[in-house]
Amino acid sequence: MELQVTNSPFSQEQAELLNRLLPTLTESQRIWLSGYLTALQGAAAAAAPAGAPAAVAAASTPSVSKEVTVLFGSQTGKSQGLAKKMSKKLEGRGFQVSLSSMSDFKTSGLKKVQNLLICVSTHGEGDPPDNALPFYEFLHSKRAPKLDGLRFSVLALGDTSYEFFCKTGKDFDQRLEELGGTRIAQRVDCDVDFDEAAAEWMESVLGSLSETSGTVSSPASNAGAAAASDTASEYSRTNPFQAEVLENLNLNGRGSDRETRHVELSLEGSNLQYEPGDCLGIIPENDPRLVSELIAAMGWKPEEQVTINKNGDKLSVQEALLRHYEISVLTKPLLEQAAKLSSSSSLKELVEPGHEQGLKAYIKERDLLDLVQDHSFKGVSAAEFVSILRKMPARLYSISSSSKASPEEVHITVRAVRYESHGRERYGVCSVQLAERVQLGDKLPVFIQNNPNFKLPESQDTPIIMIGPGTGVAPFRAFLAEREETGAEGKTWLFYGDQHFTTDFLYQIEWQRWMKAGVLTRMDVAFSRDTDKKVYVQHRMLEKSKELYQWLQEGANVYVCGDEKKMAHDVHATLLTILEQEGGFSPDEAAEYLSRMQQQKRYQRDVY
Ligand code: NDP
Repeated sequence: MELQVTNSPFSQEQAELLNRLLPTLTESQRIWLSGYLTALQGAAAAAAPAGAPAAVAAASTPSVSKEVTVLFGSQTGKSQGLAKKMSKKLEGRGFQVSLSSMSDFKTSGLKKVQNLLICVSTHGEGDPPDNALPFYEFLHSKRAPKLDGLRFSVLALGDTSYEFFCKTGKDFDQRLEELGGTRIAQRVDCDVDFDEAAAEWMESVLGSLSETSGTVSSPASNAGAAAASDTASEYSRTNPFQAEVLENLNLNGRGSDRETRHVELSLEGSNLQYEPGDCLGIIPENDPRLVSELIAAMGWKPEEQVTINKNGDKLSVQEALLRHYEISVLTKPLLEQAAKLSSSSSLKELVEPGHEQGLKAYIKERDLLDLVQDHSFKGVSAAEFVSILRKMPARLYSISSSSKASPEEVHITVRAVRYESHGRERYGVCSVQLAERVQLGDKLPVFIQNNPNFKLPESQDTPIIMIGPGTGVAPFRAFLAEREETGAEGKTWLFYGDQHFTTDFLYQIEWQRWMKAGVLTRMDVAFSRDTDKKVYVQHRMLEKSKELYQWLQEGANVYVCGDEKKMAHDVHATLLTILEQEGGFSPDEAAEYLSRMQQQKRYQRDVY
């Protein structure tokens, strides 16, 4: 439709000019122009000094641009960190960003969102993280609105060694499309080594959004964002700090089936900061015995050089397998690549569609040595072989110290993983490195993984209930050390359990000291193998259900750390039982009570 004086606010001359210009514009030029005018308008309204002409004010201020909502669903803080990074980049380009956890996002506002970015991880058997659950359920329910005007993109975090790789991200991506949304950029699924893939996703989203939104990039704010991230990350996952080992003790007594290492590391000079609830990341080294056996089985020379990255950096195959690549786990993508290198017809068959169950059974508890022993890789060079391997993923451990109580130090509590499968002893890569090969004075590459989803309450007076059997007790040592140091007065209650009282009572003396000092108000323990009948932490919780309910009513926060598969589910079920029993709630009401607690960050879990 032509613009005329009668159907527009323009003068004859303006209408003619526009009528000449508009038909010559391409689709993306039109979108750009429309965004530009909106931005100009917004900037003029927000920034024009009184009396200044609006257009002049707009030209001299950073543009105010389209809005982008960035939501994260994060268990250990990685997705949250990436969502934050994305938000900073967007702000640097003049976008207005609203960043929040999925659990804080008001779903009633979803229909108004134009640009939605999702960063979400997947846990256990394809489960969403706790703080993604309400939004995930809402979107997949009948209440989810039509989202025709929505533009979205998903960054999915996961681990290819799990069957349901990135399932939560895939589900969000598919569901948003079903509801009518269109993609700003294709979903990217990240494996444990996510930096490169995540950076590519960010670039592609930024490119697409900038192109279509009419956003004017502001060099000044770009520089600001870059500077901010530089100061925050001298040492990080991609640039770990070499931390000296100050202490490395076995906490279990003689005769125990278990070996739990208490490791203290120096952070002096690193400027790394952490809070109770955060994790320490360690980049481990493979077992040299496994590396030697692998090299021997393949008939390579240990000193043979291989390229380890896109920059063309080289290492001997021995060094590369020791420090750079994962060799202890088989994944589906790895087997697919390996089948192309191998002459084994059974391996080729295993990765074909229709053999998923066989593949799943084969990769369980097998490693690269099994693969090369079971299938022929005759003549495959070390360079070819390592090119299909996954970079060594970092291991994350809940920090068991408070930086206020132990400045410039970080402590972790790690159980050595050893088991037998397919006729061979298997060892946890990092835990057995710590147990068998790390000496005092050695240095380990570390970084801090912040976990904003497992944090002490803001108020020092809020009571806390901590449930952490086995090494799940680690962060609670940090919590209590912090509360002692800060003189917090809130009540504290610890439920702890392990197999035997005499050999497996981790940090027994410290809990006793904290009880005496009043830092730990109550402690209930469950030693599962000291009696004929198994006793677990949740049995102790039930025994104390009246008091526990009382604490909840007083506003206590509940924290659970440790095994996800069984313990965390059983503890959750027990909390529901206690609410029904003591609070008189129906099963639905009890579930609602817990989910409200979760939403208010009063029920937090660090479980895997
Ligand atoms: P475990 O969880 O194996 O054992 C600790 C105690 O819990 C034992 O007494 C055990 O009894 C008992 N237990 C077994 N089943 C249950 C159940 N369903 N409910 C309650 N208690 C139960 O201790 P670990 O330290 O070896 O392992 C802890 C687990 O938590 C691991 O899966 C680990 O990956 C994870 N973890 C996660 C951490 C994190 O940072 N998020 C930190 C530490 C561990 P019994 O053996 O007699 O059956």
